[in-house]
Amino acid sequence: MTVKNQKESLKFKKSERERYSRQMIITNWGEETQKKIKSSKVFIAGAGGLGSPVSINLAVAGVGTIRICDYDCLVLSNLNRQFLHNDSRIGMNKARSAKMTLEGLNPDVVVEAVEEKITEENIDDLIGDSDLVIDCMDNYPTRYLINATAVKKKIPMIHGGIWGLEGMVTFFHHPETPCLACIFPDAPPQEVFPVLGATPGITGSIQAMEALKYLGKQGTLLKGRILWCDYSEMSFKEVKIKKNPDCPVCSV
Ligand SMILES: [Zn+2]
Repeated sequence: MTVKNQKESLKFKKSERERYSRQMIITNWGEETQKKIKSSKVFIAGAGGLGSPVSINLAVAGVGTIRICDYDCLVLSNLNRQFLHNDSRIGMNKARSAKMTLEGLNPDVVVEAVEEKITEENIDDLIGDSDLVIDCMDNYPTRYLINATAVKKKIPMIHGGIWGLEGMVTFFHHPETPCLACIFPDAPPQEVFPVLGATPGITGSIQAMEALKYLGKQGTLLKGRILWCDYSEMSFKEVKIKKNPDCPVCSV
């Protein structure tokens, strides 16, 4: 894209001014912050329970390019929490369904659906030159692949996890913070875990809030700390985290 084209693409249409009018009046937000968000490219790994609130919040806020990746097809048991999708799309690839929903919510953003399985071979290209990676996966082997690539490229990664009525979020950015492998060196066993839709609903919204703050250069991020959320007690606890000096991923 030429400099002239880039400038043109950053101009707001009348519809965009109206669509984002309520957030542009937030103190310190304004048109400048909105432009930063519009010029951003975000890679979302997973179009499931966390990927739903994350991608919807980013799309409606006007993140310019959203690349969302999911290999799986929608099944009925997803629909208690994965509100990117709906009953009529059972059997459809989730990234494709996500694109339909997100473009329907906001036709002014570009949504790239990636229907591939994330592997060691393709993760570098999938993340590409994204400004930010959001980990909305449900399995640790893939989370570790994404983490290693984010560390290598020094791209920040917002990690979210859920189980039952509990959630957690933290903001990784190598070399400033620890990485996923520093704090969870071993993958927990893969299992069908219990979950209520509101759990990823809130947890993913916290991830989206961190993403929008980072992209818009606003506020204070969850760097070097994990927010643990116990929704059964509605208690939120912050735990400081440190780098593992022997981490096989980020210390080398
Ligand atoms: Zn590490």
